[in-house]
Amino acid sequence: MNNGIIVLIEHLKDAIADITFEMLGIGRKIADSLNVPLFAVVVGKDLNKHLPELGIADTILVVEDEKLEMASPVTIAGIIKNIIDSKGISIVILGGTNTTAGVGPILSSKMDLPYLNFCKNIRIEKDSLIITNQLFGGKIFSDVRLEDKKGILSINPGSFPADAGKTSKVVPVEEIDLSGIEIINYFKKYIEPEAGDVDITKEGVLISVGRGIENADNIGLAEDLMSVLGGAISASRPVIDQGWLPLSRQVGKSGMIVKPKLYFALGISGAPEHVEGMKDSELIVAINKDPAAPIFNVAHYGVCGDLLEILPVLTDKLKEKKG
Ligand SMILES: Cc1cc2nc3c(=O)[nH]c(=O)nc-3n(C[C@H](O)[C@H](O)[C@H](O)COP(=O)(O)OP(=O)(O)OC[C@H]3O[C@@H](n4cnc5c(N)ncnc54)[C@H](O)[C@@H]3O)c2cc1C
Repeated sequence: MNNGIIVLIEHLKDAIADITFEMLGIGRKIADSLNVPLFAVVVGKDLNKHLPELGIADTILVVEDEKLEMASPVTIAGIIKNIIDSKGISIVILGGTNTTAGVGPILSSKMDLPYLNFCKNIRIEKDSLIITNQLFGGKIFSDVRLEDKKGILSINPGSFPADAGKTSKVVPVEEIDLSGIEIINYFKKYIEPEAGDVDITKEGVLISVGRGIENADNIGLAEDLMSVLGGAISASRPVIDQGWLPLSRQVGKSGMIVKPKLYFALGISGAPEHVEGMKDSELIVAINKDPAAPIFNVAHYGVCGDLLEILPVLTDKLKEKKG
């Protein structure tokens, strides 16, 4: 029996997050194929402003309380469990983001339902649900068959079109009673990252270096390229973790989301957590010596080779061209 699909709405700082519309779009598609209702569950305080954007669902379930302003994963999991129990939900769709990453495993253990992380695709085949997961930093795709069509699916940001989740339709809203739900809070306040010397989210050109740059001194090769193209140097997480560049230069899930006109990915493998932060760049150029590096799946232009050899030549050629 399948009584419906839940999408947990993500919102931060008064705005609905892009991943919400991706989840609603794919949720709508699966709900229509299975002929079941789609519920948008929105948790927090002052939620009315968000409701007009969620009309692709059949019903919006509002869970509102002052104490839910920064609801913890364990509290949200408890709320969703109550909704599943009362409505007989079979599929829960969550965002694979820092905001809700903790909810899935807790809910999975509470409900004894499978939790499938890093979902890139969901399709229905011969009456089963097939989930494609992107594993090992984006290098392996695995298909998992859910024969009873029950599970908790965590969506990799950027996997589904956000436009499919947008509509101006007005749909019924139902308030969920919080009595009987334990609210456990441990988040105290939201801290904005410190502003760095450069705001990489505002740069038109980013020369981004990854572990393939090998050491801090070699970042000079990227800076030479930047001296010709302009822009700023950014990086993947290992470069930041090594202390070669400040945290304000990190691109990705736990760094900045950037959308420059030109993004150079130098020695960056293209793990999902990095791609999440740069996939919407207008033009992506990747240099990597591994022809199977996942970064080539998102790059518009790719050069397969040793960046330490290619960069000086590229910089010289561009200098020559510029006269
Ligand atoms: C919760 C969480 C949050 C995360 N947040 C982020 C985040 O915000 N940003 C982020 O970047 N990562 C993040 N990560 C880490 C992420 O999973 C990857 O580990 C990381 O992106 C890999 O960085 P990389 O591509 O530089 O290194 P690697 O994956 O080690 O790749 C190095 C690449 O360089 C290539 N290479 C090596 N030498 C050369 C050469 N001489 N010439 C050309 N190519 C060469 C290799 O072929 C390889 O593809 C996060 C992980 C988790 C679990």
